[in-house]
Amino acid sequence: MTSFKYVMNDDPVCPHCNNEISVGHEDLYHLYDEDENHEIDCPYCKESLAVESHCKWTFSTYKSIEEINY
Ligand SMILES: [Zn+2]
Repeated sequence: MTSFKYVMNDDPVCPHCNNEISVGHEDLYHLYDEDENHEIDCPYCKESLAVESHCKWTFSTYKSIEEINY
C-alpha cells in the first residue's frame, strides 16, 4: 500500500530515496499535464518512478466581470 507521504504533494516525492523533486528546479513542467501519467528518473537516486499529476484549481474574484479586463 502506498504511504500517504507520496500522495498529493506540491512536488513529487521519490518513492525510492524520499527526496522531494522540485518541478521548477528540475524543469519538469510536463508533469503539470494532468491527462496522462509520467515516468521520470529521480535526479537524486536516478531510479525511475511514475508520477500521477493532480490539477489544483485556484480562483480570483472581482465584483464584476469588467474588472477582470483592467
Ligand atoms: Zn530518488
